[in-house]
Amino acid sequence: MKKRLSRCFFPALLSLLALPSFSASGPIEIVRVKNEEYLPLDEILSQTELDHSFDMISGKGRLYRKGHYAVYGIGLSIILVDGGLYKSPVPVRRKAGRVLIPFDAAEKIVQSLRPGVRVDRDRSAAYVRFPDNEDESPERKEDTPVTPVKDRIRFIVIDPGHGGKDPGALGKGGIMEKDITLAVSKRLEKELKNAFPDLRVFLTRSNDRFIELSGRTAIANKLLKKSENGIFLSVHVNSALSSRISGYETYFLSQNPTNEDARNTAALENNVIVLEEKHDGGGTHDDVDYIEAMMITTQIQKESAALAACIQKGLSKKNRAFASRGVKKADFFVLRGVLMPAVLVEIGYISNIKEARQLKKEDHQRAVAAGIAEGVELFIKKYNSLIKIN
Ligand SMILES: [Zn+2]
Repeated sequence: MKKRLSRCFFPALLSLLALPSFSASGPIEIVRVKNEEYLPLDEILSQTELDHSFDMISGKGRLYRKGHYAVYGIGLSIILVDGGLYKSPVPVRRKAGRVLIPFDAAEKIVQSLRPGVRVDRDRSAAYVRFPDNEDESPERKEDTPVTPVKDRIRFIVIDPGHGGKDPGALGKGGIMEKDITLAVSKRLEKELKNAFPDLRVFLTRSNDRFIELSGRTAIANKLLKKSENGIFLSVHVNSALSSRISGYETYFLSQNPTNEDARNTAALENNVIVLEEKHDGGGTHDDVDYIEAMMITTQIQKESAALAACIQKGLSKKNRAFASRGVKKADFFVLRGVLMPAVLVEIGYISNIKEARQLKKEDHQRAVAAGIAEGVELFIKKYNSLIKIN
């Protein structure tokens, strides 16, 4: 409480000097629960024009605007704001059908998602204040559309699975998954750069080195902060006990795996966690990873499912040698916390002798890369057409 008083006083004085004129919206009633102050989320949304998605099942919601985002959970005091954690003294609540955001957290969210906009208060009400000269608002200059639109896809992150001390799945004759994923990813990079000269294409690794799973995610999310949306593609090779199984499949993140095979594939890919230094055998994620993992929104999941369907379609056009095993969902650590459409492609089975042999060959690698690229193209067309309609 003491902290809040001292914080209010001095910055208020400073901001008077720096920004002379603001216009205020209508009052927002401050709701009190157990002597703590909250602002209703619906009021914040309508007055600040933030986009929002909410997952009823997990009780997690996401506010976003122009590459900035905040993720909250009912009952959680930790709010994710632009990749950082903001801790509020009290949790977000739901009361009488309304989501209530702690006052200080609401201030933080508005400041971050609407730079230049302030939340002020008097005794019982809060006011959202906009700078009088709209041109002074830094975000307005970037793009002019008034209606809330999704950010366009501006970049693609290709994540070649495994690397360095982590070879991934092993095949007969010393074939290693990490080598195939890197070769195919590099071909995919070329394909995508040709297909999308305006997009930036990144590889999480371009040589044989080890990267932690959270590091791969971080590379993608860092790019997202620059007011741009992106796509995350993790490229892998599968392995099964039966050498008869062959074919390719595309996964998106879900805590509910499609079936036992999907669960096994995820378990196989998640094994790498024991090689990561901070997880020395314990297998537990730190708090940030855990919270990000829990905060998948329905919006991102839907987009990821659509991306997976497109990629599987593209692959089935170009990879005629093996069968499509369809789109599946499972809990892959590398997809957790990726705040953009993200999929994991298992391009074939290293445990199948015929397919392993093909996966080493240039022409097959090229076909696989072309198939994934075609899927990405299909998805981006769909995604951008949705933006235009909005
Ligand atoms: Zn793998």
